[in-house]
Amino acid sequence: MKSLVLRYGEINLKGNNRKFFERSLISSIKKKTKGYNCRVQTLRNRSIIEVDIDQADELFEKLLKVPGIENISLADKCESNYDSIKEKVLEVFDTSKPVFRVSTKRSDKNFSYTSQEFSKLMGGEILKANDGLKNMCVSMKNYEQEIGIEILKNQTYIFHKKTQAMGGLPIGTGGKALVLLSGGIDSPVSAIEAMKRGVKVNCVHFSTPPYTTKESINKVKSLVEVLKEYDEDIKFYNFNITDMQLEIKEKCDDRYTLLLMRRMMYRKTSLLCKKLRCKMIITGESIGQVASQTIESITMTNMVSDVPVIRPLITFNKQEIITLAKKYGTYDISIIPFEDACTVFAPKRPETKPELKDVLIQEEKFDYKKYLDLIKLEEEKEKINIEEFI
Ligand code: ATP
Ligand code: MG
Repeated sequence: MKSLVLRYGEINLKGNNRKFFERSLISSIKKKTKGYNCRVQTLRNRSIIEVDIDQADELFEKLLKVPGIENISLADKCESNYDSIKEKVLEVFDTSKPVFRVSTKRSDKNFSYTSQEFSKLMGGEILKANDGLKNMCVSMKNYEQEIGIEILKNQTYIFHKKTQAMGGLPIGTGGKALVLLSGGIDSPVSAIEAMKRGVKVNCVHFSTPPYTTKESINKVKSLVEVLKEYDEDIKFYNFNITDMQLEIKEKCDDRYTLLLMRRMMYRKTSLLCKKLRCKMIITGESIGQVASQTIESITMTNMVSDVPVIRPLITFNKQEIITLAKKYGTYDISIIPFEDACTVFAPKRPETKPELKDVLIQEEKFDYKKYLDLIKLEEEKEKINIEEFI
């Protein structure tokens, strides 16, 4: 068996409601461990998983994507006494990296040595056992390997490193949201940023078949699959808005069509939020990135939503977003070239500083309310193609 030591981060700052956060995190961890031959032990500030040695690396990778876990160590376990720890330390010491340091953390205050004393003693044991090995020495700053020792009451864990995990807060503690998910680079990143703050997300996509192809929907579904690595319960809703798009295109001033369409997306999503008891909409917008993302345009779309619209990437520049997309594993899918609803119907010269009075004049030109009937939304599930897959 191998041990995975999962350390909590921000949860440690919580006061009276800490239990609520802890319970959510433990539930996320347990979901991830389903199907593995393992045992989860929950302690203060951390969980420890004993897992089959063959499955340890795979489970480790999966747990790196659980919001709320700060860092993880792949560790070996032994009893909390000098000889057992020494034996394990010598066993895991990598002789090909002779410049080392030992870091001890003693949670069990009854243990006979202080953390510092014990690090020194174990350092001495390593030097003694490897006497004659070239370049053997201790360096607190320029070490090639670190031996971490965490001494708990009945068990001690020995590891080489703490790997940074997602951090943030456990899924579900930040409320429920609908993410406006396009096939682009930005919105999947904003979904993951929101998840990192504990938000439970489901995704909404607007498509315009046959102007947008089956492949473009499949691309969005593939992005949802990546998001599911962070929270497996994510649902996906796809709205077919071809009729509406065509009506807007036919009847309204070309400069406003994109904005009108976006106002409709917000309206429909805000209705769906009510139905699904979601408390916010998340988008991948970033100020000034394109015409529809000037503050004037954002103001026009913002005002039609009954729930708050959260834009995690609002101040990020494209390169920063790309770096995150690569880190989160969405980038390679996002750059597959398929048309999305916006690009097919994109106006030649969109209005970048729209005013409400002009927007309302354009909105009068098509019967937008007919696209927002909630009862219709329920009855015509098939027709409007609210698709749901888990
Ligand atoms: P992204 O890379 O996320 O597609 P973008 O740079 O292409 O963003 P826009 O096309 O202006 O920017 O879209 C801004 C935001 O509007 C997106 O981040 C997304 O949240 C939402 N959005 C755009 N198109 C769609 C769509 N077809 N379905 C659902 N949401 C969409
Ligand atoms: Mg886009």
